[in-house]
Amino acid sequence: MSKTVGDLLERIEAVVGAGGLLTGDAVAERQSGNWLNEPMRALAIARPRTTDEVSAVLALCHAVGQPVVPQGGLTGLAEGQVSGPHELALSTERMTSIEAVDPVGRTLRVQAGVVLQRAQQAAQEVNLLLPIDFGARGSCTIGGCIATNAGGCQVIRYGMMREQVLGVEAVLADGTVVSSMHPYLKNNTGYDLKQLFVGSEGTLGVVTRAVLRLRENPRSTHTAFLALERFDDVVAVLRHLDRSLGGTLSSFEVLWGSRYALQTGEHSDITPPLAVGHGFYALVEAHGFDPERDRETFQRALAEALDAGWIADALVAQNERERQTFWAIREDFEPETRKFPESLYSFDVSLPLPVMDTYTRNLEAALAARFDHYDCSVFGHVGDGNIHIAIWEAGMRRKAEVEAVVYGELDAFGGSVSAEHGIGLERKAYLHHTRDPREIDVMRAIKRSLDPKGLLNPGKVLDV
Ligand code: FAD
Repeated sequence: MSKTVGDLLERIEAVVGAGGLLTGDAVAERQSGNWLNEPMRALAIARPRTTDEVSAVLALCHAVGQPVVPQGGLTGLAEGQVSGPHELALSTERMTSIEAVDPVGRTLRVQAGVVLQRAQQAAQEVNLLLPIDFGARGSCTIGGCIATNAGGCQVIRYGMMREQVLGVEAVLADGTVVSSMHPYLKNNTGYDLKQLFVGSEGTLGVVTRAVLRLRENPRSTHTAFLALERFDDVVAVLRHLDRSLGGTLSSFEVLWGSRYALQTGEHSDITPPLAVGHGFYALVEAHGFDPERDRETFQRALAEALDAGWIADALVAQNERERQTFWAIREDFEPETRKFPESLYSFDVSLPLPVMDTYTRNLEAALAARFDHYDCSVFGHVGDGNIHIAIWEAGMRRKAEVEAVVYGELDAFGGSVSAEHGIGLERKAYLHHTRDPREIDVMRAIKRSLDPKGLLNPGKVLDV
C-alpha cells in the first residue's frame, strides 16, 4: 500500500471511528454482489454513520482523486454496487436510523441504510403502507431502492420508488451536502433536484437520508392465481380487472407456462395449486378498503373473466398461508438455483403490451436456432409492461451471444433494456438501445457537472 493510500485510510478511519473502516480479509469475506458471487474486492470499506461522516469521507477522497463505490444491501442486479480492488466501497450499513414516522403527514423519514422490510414495518406500526415491495425486501436498503429507482410487485397501483420519495439528502463527490428533505408532495420551486438522485445508481451522489410518502393501509387484500391459455387472454384479464375492481388492483404478475412448471416442479417444495400445462399463470392481488364488498367484487370479477373464457382455471387464496404460497411461486429463486448450478443470464426488459407475446415467441425461436442446449423462462410484472427473462445455455460461456439475441429482438419492438434493475456495469454496453445519443450526452453533462473528477461509481451507467 502506498503512503498516500495509507494516509487516506488513516484519515478516513479518524472520521468513521475504529470499526468503521474494514480492510484486508474483512473485505474479502464479503460477496462482491456480481453474478459470479466472487469475493468482494475493494481498497477498503468505509462505514460512516451520519451524513456529516459521508461528507467528510467523500471530501477526503475528492482531495486525492480516490474513486468511491456506494453500497447498500448488495442485492442490485446490474452490478452497480460492484467495486474494484482500487476503489473505496462506501457502505450505508451503519446508517440504519428510522428518524420519524408521521401518521398525520403520512411520511417516514429514514437514513439510507434502513432495510426495506424494516421501513415497511415502521409504516405498518402506525397502520400505514410503504408500497414498495419485492423479493429482496429483507436485505435491500432504502438508499439502494432510491439509487436504482426500484419497482417491484405493486407498481401498477402505487408507482416505482420515484413516486414514494418526497425528500432526499445526498452528498456529492466533493463532500457537498444537498438536502431536499421536504415532507410534502408538491414543490414546484425550480428543478426537482431530489429526482436527479433517484435511479442514478450511485453515480451522482451518495443518498444519506430520505422522506418517503406513506399510503393508507388497505383493509382488505384479495389474491388469486389464474391459469390462462393465450397471451391475448392475459391482456383481456388485466384490462377487465383494472376496470371491474374499482382501482384496487395492486399486483398483476405473470409466469409463462415453463416458468410455472419450474417453480412448482421437481426442484421446488411447492405443490402446484393449479395444474401444470397452461400457457400462462397470473398472480393477481387487490388492496381495498371495504372488506365485505371487496371480496364480493373480486370474486365477481374473476367469475366474469371465467364466463368470458379468458381464464381456464382460478384459485382464490383463502388465508394468509395460501397467499404466501402463491407469492412464493412468483418470487422464489430456489428452483432456478437448484436446477442450474451456474447463475443464469437474467434480463429485465420493458415492452409495450401489444408486442410482448410476439417478442417472447421470436426470442424463443432465435434461441432455438442458435443454441443446441438452452433453457429460457419468462415471468414478471406484466401489468407494468415489464418481464424478466432467465436464460441458461450449456457451458454458460456465450453471454454476449445471448445478450445479442435478447437485445436484438428487443430493438425491433422499441423495448427498454432495463425496466427496473438499472444499467450498472451489466447493461452499460446496451444503453444506446434505449437512449439516443442526445439523451446520453445530457446524462454525461449532468455527471460532469456534479462529479467533474469522475470519482463516484466510475464506469457505471455510462463512460464519461
Ligand atoms: P445495492 O445492491 O447495494 O446497490 C445498488 C445500486 O445502488 C448500486 O449502483 C449502488 O452504487 C447504488 N447505491 C446503493 N446505496 C446507495 C446510496 N445510499 N446512495 C447512492 N447510491 C447507492 N428490483 C426491482 O426494481 N424490482 C424487483 O422486483 C426486484 N426484485 C429483486 C428480487 C431479488 C431476489 C433480488 C436479489 C433483487 C431484486 N431487485 C429488484 C433488485 C433491486 O435493484 C435491488 O434489490 C435494490 O433496489 C438495491 O438495493 P440495495 O440496497 O441492495 O443496493
